[in-house]
Amino acid sequence: MQKLTVATGNSHKTEEIRAMLGEGYEVTDLKSHPELPEVEETGTTFLENATLKAVQISEQVGGLVLSDDSGLEVDALDGAPGVYSARYAGTQGDDAANNAKLLSELDGVDERSARFRCVMVLAENGKVLAHFSGAVEGRMIDELQGGGGFGYDPLFVPDGHDRTFAELGDDVKNGLSHRARAMEQVVTWLGRDALER
Ligand code: IMP
Repeated sequence: MQKLTVATGNSHKTEEIRAMLGEGYEVTDLKSHPELPEVEETGTTFLENATLKAVQISEQVGGLVLSDDSGLEVDALDGAPGVYSARYAGTQGDDAANNAKLLSELDGVDERSARFRCVMVLAENGKVLAHFSGAVEGRMIDELQGGGGFGYDPLFVPDGHDRTFAELGDDVKNGLSHRARAMEQVVTWLGRDALER
């Protein structure tokens, strides 16, 4: 089985990626490497941060490393929270606070269009092999709906649906999300790479 380390401590991301890769891959993440120092996300774009994570982690663990830098872009907020999605309200990974801040910023705002964006970088031994990206368009609603998913999922309704990612469930989300669209390219790349090795 091919080993792949996802350069994240976010188990939700890892679970989605594991489900999309299917059998044939032994997927672990940074929860299995508590000894590693945290990668500082000092970039100003998803690609910069995804590259930082993939390169630094792959210098320290063997085999293929896949990073995911992702976030929500709200048009009425000029693309915020964007690369700062995980720490929008100040504390890294505080989904409840981030959602509360977003709801307050959008209070009374009619323009509701938004998208999730995901950039992934594959690396090995500190070298970038390839990068990929995906996006899903949708709109923000004005109250939390649904208990699935993570992050901003309870506020985001993807185009073509009338329920949030948190209500639609993993199977639907994993079929059309920003991460799914990037992963389709990753899977194709990995398939070609396996043939060439
Ligand atoms: P990162 O770990 O620095 O890439 O930050 C990702 C952040 O973007 C998460 O903490 C969420 O706030 C948001 N995000 C990314 N992908 C998703 C998703 O699939 N659903 C909901 N929120 C997401």
